[in-house]
Amino acid sequence: AVPLVVAISTSVGASSGLLVRDRRGLEEARNLDAVIFDKTGTLTLGEFRVVSMHCDDAISDDEALRIAASVEAESEHPIARGIVASARERELEFPEAKDFRNITGKGVVASVDGQTYRMGGPAMVEGLEMPDALRRAAAEAGEKAQTAIYLIEGERAVAVFAVADAIRDASLEAVKALHARGIEVAMLTGDSRPVADAVARELGIDRVFAEVLPEDKADKVKALQRQGKTVAMVGDGVNDAPALATADVGIAIGAGTDVAVEAGHIVLVRSDPRDIPRIVALSKATRRKMV
Ligand code: ADP
Ligand code: MG
Repeated sequence: AVPLVVAISTSVGASSGLLVRDRRGLEEARNLDAVIFDKTGTLTLGEFRVVSMHCDDAISDDEALRIAASVEAESEHPIARGIVASARERELEFPEAKDFRNITGKGVVASVDGQTYRMGGPAMVEGLEMPDALRRAAAEAGEKAQTAIYLIEGERAVAVFAVADAIRDASLEAVKALHARGIEVAMLTGDSRPVADAVARELGIDRVFAEVLPEDKADKVKALQRQGKTVAMVGDGVNDAPALATADVGIAIGAGTDVAVEAGHIVLVRSDPRDIPRIVALSKATRRKMV
């Protein structure tokens, strides 16, 4: 039988926009020392758009964006969705790509009109030939906290897209409320260091893990646990699932992927990060009822 107190707190949770899938998460929430947030789609909306682009002389902006959208069309990554949306907003028609493949934590590869292309971040262009103008455009994007995504034709980068996402209005308040409870706030992202640092600065986040490969996300949770901390992880993506499962309190964003939702102890039905300090309060109130 479900203990009465837990049944009560679960129904309280439901009416306040929380879905408690595993009550151990709710019970541990009262002991939290640190909360680690995924960046994209968790602290930010995950709704990207291309805000500027720079192309090699041999290719026009529209042509580059058209190919980029073809290559990204099958990807579920929020950056890919943003690139496809930007191409649609420009009313560009793009052909269907062939042989689409994900390269985890780096980007995607596909062939368009018989030519192989890759799209990805800095990890994708390591060791590749890169025109100076593209290098400069990518550096400028980083300074503005925009993510630089490259279009690579064969072994040559031919265009760079600066894509941007907006921080959720509620994220700053969530960080402040956690700090008020003496809880450390960290951010974990596969995105580049300058973008990660800019978001962390804006939100007053204490610790940043940037350029983390998907398979290493859970290790960052373990690193804090090894310091004796009780750790919550908050995330939305497929790549957050192992970290959510490793954390003492795994919290999934309701609007996130099914894989993340299934890995979490608690689901934020409203996708509102301010519900995390509420979880801590709810967990503490539950204990008071038990004693
Ligand atoms: P996160 O969810 O924290 O952004 P990911 O591991 O999904 O982390 O991605 C890490 C980086 O890899 C992204 O910031 C981006 O540079 C690149 N990347 C991943 N998927 C794609 C994609 N479909 N198109 C372009 N770049 C991608
Ligand atoms: Mg994410």
